[in-house]
Amino acid sequence: MKKFILLPALILLAVWVNTGCKQKQNTNQANNTDTISEMQKKVNEYAVVKLTTDMSKLTDKEKQMIPVLLEISQIMDDLYWMETLGNKWAFLDTIKDAATKQFAIINYGPWDRLDENLPFIAGIGKKAPGANFYPADMTKDEFEKWNDKNKASQYTLVKRETDGKLKSIWFHEAFEGKIKQASELLLKAAALAEDPGLKKYLELRSKALLTDDYFASDMAWMDMKTNTIDFVVGPIENYEDELFGYKAAHEAAILVKDKEWSKKLEKYAAMLPALQKELPCDPKYKQEVPGTDSDLNAYNILYYAGHTNCGGKTIAINLPNDEKVQLAKGSRRLQLKNAMQAKFDKILVPIADVLIDPSQRANIKFDAFFGNVMFHEVAHGLGIKNTINGKGNIREALKEQYSGWEEGKADILGLYMVTKLIEKGELQGITVEDAFVTYMAGLIRSVRFGAAEAHGKANMMCFNFFEDKGAFKLNPDGTYKVDMEKTRQAMNEWSAFILQIEGEGDYQQAVDYMAANGKVRDELKTGLEKLKTANIPKDVVFEQGLATLGL
Ligand SMILES: [Zn+2]
Repeated sequence: MKKFILLPALILLAVWVNTGCKQKQNTNQANNTDTISEMQKKVNEYAVVKLTTDMSKLTDKEKQMIPVLLEISQIMDDLYWMETLGNKWAFLDTIKDAATKQFAIINYGPWDRLDENLPFIAGIGKKAPGANFYPADMTKDEFEKWNDKNKASQYTLVKRETDGKLKSIWFHEAFEGKIKQASELLLKAAALAEDPGLKKYLELRSKALLTDDYFASDMAWMDMKTNTIDFVVGPIENYEDELFGYKAAHEAAILVKDKEWSKKLEKYAAMLPALQKELPCDPKYKQEVPGTDSDLNAYNILYYAGHTNCGGKTIAINLPNDEKVQLAKGSRRLQLKNAMQAKFDKILVPIADVLIDPSQRANIKFDAFFGNVMFHEVAHGLGIKNTINGKGNIREALKEQYSGWEEGKADILGLYMVTKLIEKGELQGITVEDAFVTYMAGLIRSVRFGAAEAHGKANMMCFNFFEDKGAFKLNPDGTYKVDMEKTRQAMNEWSAFILQIEGEGDYQQAVDYMAANGKVRDELKTGLEKLKTANIPKDVVFEQGLATLGL
């Protein structure tokens, strides 16, 4: 029962890959250098970055724990390969070209994650929306008519048996050997844990893997507050299942908390009620008192595995996903500082070098970028949650418009917070000018691949608003310059405008404004074209593991 699971997919894959390679060889003969360099170019779209942290801050026991967590992470990585594609090595061994193989490792399969999952090996078809969680020949209709109580569980695979019937199988049964191994290693890690909260969490997580019941371990994870090491592990996010969004894919992240920054964030969250009163908007939109309890921490990440390591890399984690746990304990936001630094160095700075006025490039600073990203999270707590005219809460009133406007609000009020805190002397090392220029570069970065998503459109509206107010000026050479005073005014006016849209819950105005102002203008389009020719990486890929950490 357990062994057959990946076989059909594998055979199918072998056929695909073989045809793929043959066709590829033919193309190679015809057009050898071009094909190879095209693939190498794709690999080069990912800048290589070493993942490290200051290991001297760890205790001996913590240092001993890292290799154990790493072993577990590698198991999660293998499981993710199974869920997205099938057997990793059976697939990779069929690829002869080194660059193609490397690109397949980055993408965990033959589909380009940053280019709409288009296949990059000839002869390979479209990526199955249900990945390898469901049989390739299963239709939605067949699934919906099938009577099975575990079919929609996040933690089951759906397989077709030899008699043609569908069957759901728990992850812990389907992957029994690897799950047992990971579970035992979690106990080994728990034995090394000095922090009681971490110990309890690791023990419960070990049990959870064996039963696919994660509730108790998620609760323990939220209770854990004084740990230095954190470990996200298990089947967690549902994005890989594009068929139904049911199935969770395995992943792991080894993290070390930046206690200094985490403490600062606690302090800033406590200042929210005072900052709320100073918001530059009509008093009726700032009557609510923001909560000050936030579980927001900064971390350095040492290892990405499985789903979280494929394609574009996350710079923040927001967990748990279980709404029952969220209701009881809230959720935790983990900001990954070294991953942000990597994207800043490899992507934001090179973009600024092309599109920001040379006299202001020195204002592009990591601390400003980090501040803007961190305070975005805190700023979600500012402003207003309920409309002032009986239209209910803003989410309901603005419907599908909500997320774009709310993200736009958090961006601009995040900048507002940074500005205020710098002026109050609470945030050292950067100036308001740094915050403004870095903010503009961040806006450009976020619309680099178009403003299709809600948040991208919100960023574009913001950029256009600032440009119309004379805050961002287009130079004749195509670079942009920040006018500091006008930027401050535009920041206040844009904040006031979003808070009004939200406070009034004005759905129609939200739709109309975004339709009219959420587009990338021609001048910026020309600028974004320049980024293409400058070969600025699309994302990063990590050199990670024991050797990188010096262990
Ligand atoms: Zn947000």
